[in-house]
Amino acid sequence: MPSNKIVVVGAGVTGLTTALLLSKDSSNDVTVIAKHMPGDTDIEYASPWAGASYLPFGAKGSQNAEYEQATWPPLRDLARNNPESGIHFQDITVQNRLKDQQTVTGKWAAELTSSSPWFKDLMPNFRNLPADQLPPGIDNAQTFTSVCINPAIYLPWLVTQCMKGGCVLKRAVLSHIADAADAHHSGVKADVVVNCTGLGSRTLGGVTDGQVHPIRGQILMVRNDPGSMTTISGSDDGSEEVAYIFPRAAGGGTIIGGTYQKDNWDPLPDPNFANRIMQRALKLDPRLVKPGQGVEGLDVIRHGVGLRPGRTDGVRIEKDQVNGVKIVHNYGHGGFGYQVSWSCAEKAARLVSETLLQKDRAKL
Ligand code: FAD
Repeated sequence: MPSNKIVVVGAGVTGLTTALLLSKDSSNDVTVIAKHMPGDTDIEYASPWAGASYLPFGAKGSQNAEYEQATWPPLRDLARNNPESGIHFQDITVQNRLKDQQTVTGKWAAELTSSSPWFKDLMPNFRNLPADQLPPGIDNAQTFTSVCINPAIYLPWLVTQCMKGGCVLKRAVLSHIADAADAHHSGVKADVVVNCTGLGSRTLGGVTDGQVHPIRGQILMVRNDPGSMTTISGSDDGSEEVAYIFPRAAGGGTIIGGTYQKDNWDPLPDPNFANRIMQRALKLDPRLVKPGQGVEGLDVIRHGVGLRPGRTDGVRIEKDQVNGVKIVHNYGHGGFGYQVSWSCAEKAARLVSETLLQKDRAKL
């Protein structure tokens, strides 16, 4: 009989990956509770809106870079061995314009667009494009093989894996994190609560983390498939506007984006942004449409907006105690939640084990 009662709050990529890793220990009995579950599309739920690609942004030597490096092997192995999880390999071309260096998107993508990033020896087939192959206006560009995830398949796949490990999933809306301890499916008070509420951590009682903020991302999903991924450091349309093209796995359509708008909560797609996103995508990769076509050649499935759960000091993964309830936090993954998901979940699971050990020692 599993003896450790654990409640994970949140069923985005962070909560589900954390629950999955916790469920691999047969002494753990895990409940996942969340306001939104896979299948929902809501502005309070970031995970379904993601591209979702693996494109390292963490600066050389930073903790984010470590998280990204450690998450590449599990994502690569899923693409290789479990394509039914909705992950496939995709080549990517990354283009850089030096004039974007001081813009919002240029700073965000500084490591990704550097000609000598830390991940050049990690990513398969990494190579810099020779100067005579650079498109007009591009100062450097590189290609490598990465993965693109289809959240509509990957999130339910994570649910299936969690359930195989014995996790029970339930809907619940919390106003205070400590209340989660009373939501374990056994009816017994939980030993540990894991907080994976993303942007919700800004307002959730007992957490109310003022560092958490939205970074708005507007996208389109189209049926067109250019055959590989492309992105660029910025645009001439504004500091927070950029272009990327991510063909998702398993019929998931192609995501074209986008925007990177800090502290913007607007949940509605803006038609002006949408128009510029389409124009930029076509310029970035004309293979999106048939020769001679313009934006009318884009076959739009839907427009969307997601709010990346940013955090000023970066991801928070640490132990806490609120109203006598032992908590482990794992939130604040901004625009990189998928590409750090496995290593952040591993760290959170380690902290849960440490917390449970303390509980066992206290009983002696
Ligand atoms: P969420 O997915 O937001 O999940 C939060 C969960 O907590 C939900 O289940 C919610 O219901 C629950 N919750 C919150 N508050 C409460 C409460 N009070 N009570 C109960 N439940 C609660 N990342 C990448 O790695 N690669 C990409 O290419 C990429 N592209 C992106 C493109 C866009 C347009 C956007 C918007 C994001 C992108 N991201 C990408 C970022 C990624 O989507 C996020 O970092 C990630 O989804 C965060 O996951 P999460 O599980 O922490 O939060």
